This record gives sequence, structure tokens and C-alpha cells, in this order.
Amino acid sequence: MQFQTDGLVVREMTVGESDRLIWVLTRDRGMIRAFARRAKIYKNSLHAATQLLCYGHFKVNESKDRCIILEGQPIEIFFELRQDLIRLSLAQYFCELAGILAVDGQGAGEILRLVLNALHFLCKGARPPLILKAAVELRMLSIAGFMPDLVACAGCGAYTAETMVFFPQEGNLLCGNCHPPAGGIAISAGVLTAMRHIVYSDFEKLFSFTLGEDSQRQLARASERYVLATLSQSLPALDFFHSLNG
Ligand SMILES: [Zn+2]
Repeated sequence: MQFQTDGLVVREMTVGESDRLIWVLTRDRGMIRAFARRAKIYKNSLHAATQLLCYGHFKVNESKDRCIILEGQPIEIFFELRQDLIRLSLAQYFCELAGILAVDGQGAGEILRLVLNALHFLCKGARPPLILKAAVELRMLSIAGFMPDLVACAGCGAYTAETMVFFPQEGNLLCGNCHPPAGGIAISAGVLTAMRHIVYSDFEKLFSFTLGEDSQRQLARASERYVLATLSQSLPALDFFHSLNG
């Protein structure tokens, strides 16, 4: 059976000397794993569309045991990302998360939209990288069924408090009056507002908030701890991002 679809290449592996195995996150078919014959060869017509981070239009042949890419045209290759190692590593981390969280097709379309928007902002340098990182992390986990409970203190129901502590393992909050145990991250009112915005806002408004640099770091720390506690697996692209940032 043949079908056509648009999707983002979120993982790419070389097979043999010149073939590629790619994972494509699509709007309508979830994650597709497909072979692209001779795609490593520079002059091959599949070369551009089947590289990591390319959003493209694909014609695919599906048989009972494998998918094969017959044709591929790039729609967007996010060229600017490939000239900046830090932004490139962050883009690869977004793909890594999508590869883990969009596998069963649940919310794949929403995850694709999230990653494509983040890649556009990352390309343009229009938002601070740490804000993009936290927005992608918290929103993608929420779409995939791991939404943290940030509405109020889990102990007393307070919506705001002088001290609020986020617990990455539980994915919830305790206020200072509820005697939060060790292991949580104290977050400022501004960071809590940002986290609520990322998790609960309409998609169109997701990336439109600002934070000072100290707060960006606090947000990034809380968000990343939540990713690590939720997924509990190694994330090589995240490690690489950190190795570049010292
Ligand atoms: Zn409380």
C-alpha cells in the first residue's frame, strides 16, 4: 500500500554503506519508521528530505514488515540551526523527546506542531533558548499524558503562597505552610506563573511570555528535573546540550 504524508525526521540511522533508516513524526500517522535507499549519497533525490530535522513531504510504500520511502521533498530544513551547535543540540533534544513520547501516535499531531513551532523560534533566535526548552519539555509531557498538577498546593489548596515548592517525582506543588519535605525545588511566583502558562495556556499563546534570566534558569531546572523524573531513562542529546553549555 502506498500513502503520502508530511512529517519531521526526528531520528536518522545509517544502514549499510548508503541507506538510511529514519523515524518521521507525522500529523496523521503518528511515528513512521522507514527505509530510504541510497539516501546517504549526496546526489540522491532522497538525500535532503531524509536528514535529521528536515520537515518534508513523503511518498511511502508500506508492506507487512517495513516501510520504504519512495519519494521525499523537503518543505523546511531549518538551515540556520545547522550553523549553531548549541541551538542544533537543543533541536536534537526536542527530537529525542518526541521520539520517546510520540511513539504510539497518541497526540503525535500536537507534538509535531509543538516541535515545529519551537524549531522556527529557535531558528529565528526570537525567544531565549531556556524558555523554548522548558516550554517544549512541560508541554510535550502534558500532551503525552504526564501533565503536572500546578493548579494549587496539594496539601491545602492554596493557589498562591509566599513559598511554593515543586516536586518533580510527584509532579505537584506544596506551599511553605504545608511543611514541604526535602527533594523539591522552591520556585518564585513568576516561575510558577510561567509553568502554569506552559501547561494550561492555549497553544497559540504558548511561547509568548517573558522571564528574567535568573527565573529562566529556575524554570529550566524545575522543568528538566520533571522530565528526568518522569522518563527515567538516559537522554544523550540532553547530555550533549549540557556538555556545550559547560
Ligand atoms: Zn499548602
